[in-house]
Amino acid sequence: MKNIEIDQRRALATPRGVGVTFPLYADRAENATLWDVEGRAYIDFACGIAVLNTGHRHPKVQAAIEAQLNRFTHTAYQIVPYESYISLAERINALAPIDGLKKTAFFTTGAEAVENAVKIARSHTGRPAVLAFTGGFHGRTMMGMALTGKVVPYKVGFGPFPGDVHHAPFPNRLHGVSIEDSLRAIESLFKADVDPQRVAAIIVELVQGEGGFNIAPVEFMTELRALCNAHRILLIADEVQTGFARTGKLFALEHYPVQADLITLAKSLAGGMPLSAVCGRAEVMDAPLPGGLGGTFAGNPLAIAAAHAVIDVIAEEDLCKRAARLGARLVQFLENERGRCSGIAEVRALGSMVAIELCDPASGKPDAEAAKRIQQQAIEQGLILLTCGVYGNVIRFLFPLSIEDAVFEEGQAILAQALES
Ligand code: PMP
Repeated sequence: MKNIEIDQRRALATPRGVGVTFPLYADRAENATLWDVEGRAYIDFACGIAVLNTGHRHPKVQAAIEAQLNRFTHTAYQIVPYESYISLAERINALAPIDGLKKTAFFTTGAEAVENAVKIARSHTGRPAVLAFTGGFHGRTMMGMALTGKVVPYKVGFGPFPGDVHHAPFPNRLHGVSIEDSLRAIESLFKADVDPQRVAAIIVELVQGEGGFNIAPVEFMTELRALCNAHRILLIADEVQTGFARTGKLFALEHYPVQADLITLAKSLAGGMPLSAVCGRAEVMDAPLPGGLGGTFAGNPLAIAAAHAVIDVIAEEDLCKRAARLGARLVQFLENERGRCSGIAEVRALGSMVAIELCDPASGKPDAEAAKRIQQQAIEQGLILLTCGVYGNVIRFLFPLSIEDAVFEEGQAILAQALES
């Protein structure tokens, strides 16, 4: 089979709204390497958008899925439950950086976790409004889109969205938004648009993923927490992209001296199987009535088995430490590259959540073309890279934390060529 032939069929058989980044079709994959149907190998610095912190088909994850496959694949947890769901909730409750009693519910996608976090927050507080941030991404469902702070392409033509969702600017040093600007904008929202007594929750990414790997400053998070405390608003940390060892901690929240009331998880939680979760303070999680939460496929047994193995692998292979080490190595490499690639305006990183922002050296304006060019050069040399950012001018690096040293070096060598071309 040829990539180009399949791609022609794609154009006829599937809608353009489901865009694809690369016209290469996956055949098989192992750890950080992916082969296409023509037998060409690629180094995977995309990880299926941050899903494979433990790599493609980690032997332990694969074994766990196979073992479960031989027992049962589906019962619908709410009809006939299984113990593995409960033990996974217990493990996540024990690991989550929230004091006191916690509870966890499982779902399937990141957007679904976000939807449910909002449902739970509304149910607990009895309040309707939610505050989110510009540049944030929270999914493609109706509430996910409403919360997302980027119009093109996520919101175009899909409204109206659920009401009572408000956006404040996310701090962004490079683009001139200070912490004070952001906090002042929230104060002004509370004065002009929405009574803080009607706000159920503030949802925030500790590092904005799709928005460009913008890292929430510590002082901003402490101020946000104080604001939440003052108005009895719940704080939801959307850790769908930051979670599960990517930032050098199991939860990015562990980098901050603040706690969230609810945390959403998905992506790398189950090493490539579709699973998401909401973990939170028990009294908050218990607000919805029995039957109010769940879903036919929510907490699928194969995905639950995979997640147990992912937690084991992260501990056994010390992947949090490895995320910190690999991230530091890549940052050092990218800082060196800045001398040779004048378009790199900023290198940002929290652990292995690493990105470069590209701006035109003369005008200082965001340079999405440069990001596309580098991505194209890299793929031609066999390296899969992802872009992101409100202006599409950020390249993010999401290699498996289990990547072999030699493959990591090879990826960097290709990246150097792409940056300098
Ligand atoms: N929240 C964040 C922070 C995300 O990065 C994403 C996905 N990029 C989502 C929610 C939505 O997840 P999903 O695509 O699994 O619905």
